[in-house]
Amino acid sequence: MGLLGKTKAELAKYATVLKHSEKEAAELNDDFEPAVVKEKSEKPKTEDGVVEMITCSSCKKEIPAGLMKKNLCVCPECGAHNKISAARRVRSMVDPGTFRKLKCKVPFVNPLDYPDYEEKITKLQEKTGLEEGVLIGVGEIMGQKAMIAVMGSEFLMGSMGIALGEKVTYAFEVADKNKLPVVMFTASGGARMQEGILSLMQMAKTSAAVQRFSEHGGLYVVCLTHPTTGGVSASFATLGDITLAEPGALIGFAGPRVIEQTIGQKLPEGFQRAEYLESHGFVDQIVPRNEMREVVGQILKLHERKRWSL
Ligand SMILES: [Zn+2]
Repeated sequence: MGLLGKTKAELAKYATVLKHSEKEAAELNDDFEPAVVKEKSEKPKTEDGVVEMITCSSCKKEIPAGLMKKNLCVCPECGAHNKISAARRVRSMVDPGTFRKLKCKVPFVNPLDYPDYEEKITKLQEKTGLEEGVLIGVGEIMGQKAMIAVMGSEFLMGSMGIALGEKVTYAFEVADKNKLPVVMFTASGGARMQEGILSLMQMAKTSAAVQRFSEHGGLYVVCLTHPTTGGVSASFATLGDITLAEPGALIGFAGPRVIEQTIGQKLPEGFQRAEYLESHGFVDQIVPRNEMREVVGQILKLHERKRWSL
């Protein structure tokens, strides 16, 4: 029987079933905390009033830091997409005031008793304002609510250890529970050597979390940024329903020099760059940074889960 001919009160019954129940809404709040997404080392001017300059990684020109940051770290001279911090990326993507950080504290472990590892992590936490190499939370992109995970190459090259794997897995689980799409920005040098084989295990763990999320009908949008390599590229970075990439991003498993040495052949020009991957069907679209918010917003809107609105 269709919905035609039913009274408004009867239809409202369907609507309440399909909306979040009060308990679900409460759980959604329990999982998150308010966040001030600000970079700790944000100083456009040095103490003596001299304008700080940033050197573009591609054309090597000196660009005033303020201009570079305003331009989302895209070089105004040559258009190169320089590295951007996780906090700045989140700010460039979400509608103002909508971001809430996912609560997920993973205790520090040093399974191999790696020398000075704990001090290194503590220092990085203070310097970057990140707990680990990924910043995760829920926010709205062009009015579309989504779970947003941004890897920060400023935190040990965005390498994947136990804590990062746990956070990514938990993000997919919470997104699944709350029927939210996941938008992921990857930037990683691969597995974290300081945690040995336990880092490699995060590949299987995160991949399984993506699979479960996908089986339940969740939408997963990935944006591969420079560089996405190693264990991250071999797990959750390349499992998206829709795969975007930033111009010129290095994307691959092993580096080009290692491959050349192994196969004894010269690699084609542009090998492992976003453009090469797009022309070979591994990337759906290359999106410049200043268009990313709009493109992701449109993708989310197109795949919005239908809810009854009466
Ligand atoms: Zn440049």
